[in-house]
Amino acid sequence: MNFDVLWLLVCTILVFLMQPGFMCLESGLTRTKNNINVAIKNLVDLGISVLIFWLVGYGIAFGSSWMGIIGSNSFLLNPESWSPQLIIFFLFQMMFCSTATTIVSGATAERLKFQAYGIIIIIISGLIYPIFSHWSWNGLNLGAANGFLGRIGFIDFAGSTVVHSVGGWVSLAVILIIGSRKGRFSKSGDSEPIQGSNLSFSVLGVMLIWLGWLGFNAGSLLEFNNLIPLVLLNTILAGAAGMISAGCLSWHKFKTSKVELLINGSLAGLVSITAACNIVSPYIAVVIGFVGGAISILTSYLLESWQIDDAVDAIPVHLGAGIWGTMAVALYGSPELLNTGLNRFSQLLVQLLGIAVCGVWSFGVTWVLLKLINRFFPLRVSLEDEEQGLNIAEHFAKSTVYEMLNVMNRQATEQDLSLRVPVEPFTEIGQVANRYNQVIDSLESSSLKLKNFNAELEKEVQQRTAELSIAKTQAEKANQAKSRFLANMSHELRTPLNAVLGFTQLMSRDSNLTTKQKENLNIINSSGKHLLSLINEILDLSKIESGQMTFNANIFDLPSLLNTLEQTFRLKAEDKGIELIVKYASDLPQFVETDEQKLRQVLMNLLSNAIKFTKKGQVILRMSAISKGAKLTTINCEVEDTGYGIAPEELKNIFEPFVQTSSGRETQKGTGLGLAISRKFVQLMGGEITITSMLDQGTIARFNIVVTSTNPEQIYAENVYQKVIGLKPGQPNYRILVVDDRWENRQLLVQLLESVGFKVSEAANGQEAVQIWSSWQPHLIWMDMQMPLLNGYQAAGQIRSQINGQDTVIIALTASAFEEQRAAILKAGCNDYVRKPFLEKIIWEKMAEYLGIEYIYEESALSHQNTSKKTSLNLEVSALQSMSIEWIDKLRQATIELDSGLIAELIGQIPEEDILLAQALQYKLKNFNFDQILHLIDQANNK
Ligand code: ADP
Repeated sequence: MNFDVLWLLVCTILVFLMQPGFMCLESGLTRTKNNINVAIKNLVDLGISVLIFWLVGYGIAFGSSWMGIIGSNSFLLNPESWSPQLIIFFLFQMMFCSTATTIVSGATAERLKFQAYGIIIIIISGLIYPIFSHWSWNGLNLGAANGFLGRIGFIDFAGSTVVHSVGGWVSLAVILIIGSRKGRFSKSGDSEPIQGSNLSFSVLGVMLIWLGWLGFNAGSLLEFNNLIPLVLLNTILAGAAGMISAGCLSWHKFKTSKVELLINGSLAGLVSITAACNIVSPYIAVVIGFVGGAISILTSYLLESWQIDDAVDAIPVHLGAGIWGTMAVALYGSPELLNTGLNRFSQLLVQLLGIAVCGVWSFGVTWVLLKLINRFFPLRVSLEDEEQGLNIAEHFAKSTVYEMLNVMNRQATEQDLSLRVPVEPFTEIGQVANRYNQVIDSLESSSLKLKNFNAELEKEVQQRTAELSIAKTQAEKANQAKSRFLANMSHELRTPLNAVLGFTQLMSRDSNLTTKQKENLNIINSSGKHLLSLINEILDLSKIESGQMTFNANIFDLPSLLNTLEQTFRLKAEDKGIELIVKYASDLPQFVETDEQKLRQVLMNLLSNAIKFTKKGQVILRMSAISKGAKLTTINCEVEDTGYGIAPEELKNIFEPFVQTSSGRETQKGTGLGLAISRKFVQLMGGEITITSMLDQGTIARFNIVVTSTNPEQIYAENVYQKVIGLKPGQPNYRILVVDDRWENRQLLVQLLESVGFKVSEAANGQEAVQIWSSWQPHLIWMDMQMPLLNGYQAAGQIRSQINGQDTVIIALTASAFEEQRAAILKAGCNDYVRKPFLEKIIWEKMAEYLGIEYIYEESALSHQNTSKKTSLNLEVSALQSMSIEWIDKLRQATIELDSGLIAELIGQIPEEDILLAQALQYKLKNFNFDQILHLIDQANNK
């Protein structure tokens, strides 16, 4: 074995070093999740390309040339027939083939399927490389040029084009088919750099490649001669110059020395000197390397702007600088040394032709073949695999980081804090994992504490809720008890008051009384009245507070209400020397629907306050209306006086219960409840009340309510009562049972019902009622609720519990003012209830509603006539004229005897068409104004 063989052997080993070099370079420049895939591709391309080159590659490249195009022998190298020189040449070329092949793995990294890469290795090392190598280098080892490019003088000393450009062109074709990595370019076309995982590893790779390059270039001399030092020197200088030029550009553009640029610059310098390292001086080598470095950086920018994603910048380095290096042969190599017989220009043309042929062949064939294969077998991995990383997707090669991320992902999705990431001891990532686990430990313990705390909190909330519910029930019970107590109390208080007020009034009519006695009687009377208003107001307020005060709308004549009020207060005002003026707008609707009683009470309270707290001047009641659409109208009302006024600080709490101003307290009248009640009433009627006042100037109370305005026809329909005089023929013989413990009450109903033709039975208590019910089976029962022995509730309950107990309609008669009684009545089994004292009309209506009874009515013309009379209430003497003399006498007697029960009964006898008389008397009775009733009767009698 001679030195040439030994030298080539050493160089072969050096070139072999380029393989681990490329492995380090590429896997360092790619992401961790893909680095194993990149590395193994480097090993596999070495293995496969070596075998393929042995099988066919070498024969194609260096076998006897067929027309300068393809080799025809030397396949499957057999050492018996080969000399050691030939074998070492073969090995050297084998390394070249592997180098050309391995370039592709870097450029296409991070998205190319492993099998697809296998196919590309076969194509490049079995076809592309050997053929182009044949065209350029066939006969090289024999000192001849047999390939068609070699023959025309194409010079590529150690493979700037043959090795590097071939790798670059194939890479370009593959990248154009498989596309760029996910996320490398945004939708708007912006470039998003993908950071390499281990740049120091890449730097080690470059150094190995550089070392291998010495063998690459110096070995290409194929003999141990004097040119070796020059070639080595030129190679090293060009690599260094490339690195410097790339560094300068990096500094110029980024103001920093980017590692990737320095790496690629030095490699580009090495690639560009490869074609001419044996024929140029060191100076020129530096120039070539310098330009090569710059070209690679510029090519990289170009590719990026075209959105071509080369993962490790293999194309700028191997193709860009490769083309430049091949051209540099013609530009700097002396024609004598080249010895091609061509002048510099012709040489340049030949070089360019070689470059073009390499491009068309390498790029073209790869593109066509892979495009075809890609149709049936997609070369690119799936998007999920790309996201997951090719280490796992292609090789199931898990890394500690991957496992850590996996656990973290499970923690995030399953919210399972009991999971811990695996800890790889004595590694940096192990330390991170350890710390992370510590964080999760404390997170878990604090979340456990939080859970316990929440559980306790929930328990406490439940306990509190239960306590609250008990307290609520107790409060409701207490409230009901309070309402019952107040109702009873007011009843109990009103009975003796009845006597106190009545007798004082009657006594004061006695002309024998002394002035002193009269004064005393007046004091008793006014104190009694005060007590009465207090009782009434407390009852109202307690109803409001317990939510029992409801809005009871009825249709009424608004101007008539104002007239009545004017009459009621005129005397009082005149007594005090105050002028009372009532003004209302001409467009004030006559008939409106709202709670008349509450409106009256509010106006009475405001007027009585205004008169009470005014010494001189006037009190004006104003009322106007604003239409709010077809039916709704807002009524604005003002009560203005020229009285004492209210101080600003007292005005603030004026609507609070029991609040009186100093002037209010001085009068020693009133309770301080009037305004509180008025406000609630106004709110119930859908409005708001305000008071403005100036001390010693006067006060204005304003409120507004929303009412429904109605036309007179409707009033007619609602209010006209047609007297029932009989039952229409052809109806069943209705049996009605009247139950009441008071004989006179029973008689009232019995006679009424019999008068129109019902069969009526009567019972004096619940027990009797149940007995009569079972033997007589009435269609309907009018049931009084308060009775001895068995009350109405119990009787209704007993009837309902019998087999046919549901067949009878039971309607309760109740005197109770409380809404809550209603629920109790219905619960006891009654179908409905009617308040006492009742109107005849209601009795007929309810019976028609439940039994479907049809009546015969009196002629309606009369009723119609009476309606107009009804619309203006004037409790004048004339009002009593429609009543009989006996009735008036009875009323007089009952009033003198203060028998409010009898008075109520007599009021009940007033015919329906004189309902306003009945209402007015009822009102006086309720307020114990017996003297006024008597006054009226006496006036009537005197007439
Ligand atoms: P009462 O009139 O029963 O005392 P109110 O609630 O109606 O209760 O009125 C509360 C207090 O507001 C009165 O006592 C009085 O001091 C003051 N007040 C009410 N209206 C007027 C008014 N028009 N002028 C001056 N003070 C008034």
